[in-house]
Amino acid sequence: MLTKGSITQSLAEVRRRMDQVVVRSKRDPSTIRLLAVSKTQPLSSVEEAYQAGQRAFAENRVQEWLAKAPSLPDDCEWHLVGTLQTNKVKYLDKNVAMIHSLDRFSLLETLNEHGERRRMVWATLVQVNIARDPAKAGLMIEEVPDFLNSVGDYPHVHVQGFMTIGALEASLVETQGFFRELRCLRDTLQSRKWSGVDLRELSMGMSRDFEIAIEEGATIIRVGSQIFGTR
Ligand SMILES: *Cc1c(COP(=O)(O)O)cnc(C)c1O
Repeated sequence: MLTKGSITQSLAEVRRRMDQVVVRSKRDPSTIRLLAVSKTQPLSSVEEAYQAGQRAFAENRVQEWLAKAPSLPDDCEWHLVGTLQTNKVKYLDKNVAMIHSLDRFSLLETLNEHGERRRMVWATLVQVNIARDPAKAGLMIEEVPDFLNSVGDYPHVHVQGFMTIGALEASLVETQGFFRELRCLRDTLQSRKWSGVDLRELSMGMSRDFEIAIEEGATIIRVGSQIFGTR
């Protein structure tokens, strides 16, 4: 955790680094969103980021999101990253802007049932295990087309793109390769028309690798420790 005032500074620093890489890689800045990953951070830290102008936040545990979100202003946008247990789906409501970790059929089914009950459609990203890291969740690349093929059977779930987490032990060069692979997958599959699927988003890049993620086409970066300090 950082001392008060430093979150404002580190947020400005992350934004400055984003701006630099946006210019360098000739990206349109309006196509890249920064999520502040506030998991394990106290409310006061999230409030400071809010005061500094940050509106989009991400949590990885439903219980923690439930405990935190009601204390923050209504114009915060909440994203869920990290494995979502099916028994937690019943707690989700319209305050969840996007679920980044759709990684299995049972979750697709459960989200659909809950969405039907709540009369809403969940915005989701399919998590892909690009690095083939056995410690990580996510579909293998070759499983993705079949999965997207089924999404149309679940009208209360909409897939808006892909999410990945670079392997922890990988070098930045390897990570760049993984991000590039995810973008290629998206570009290849984008031309196919699946109902309930629109592959516009690429959620990739965290504190240590968000710059290369932007270079490789990320539309959403998820930054925690660079903003809030180490957990
Ligand atoms: C914790 C987490 C992040 C943020 O990680 P940092 O290295 O702290 O930036 C991003 N994405 C997911 C899925 C996470 O669980």
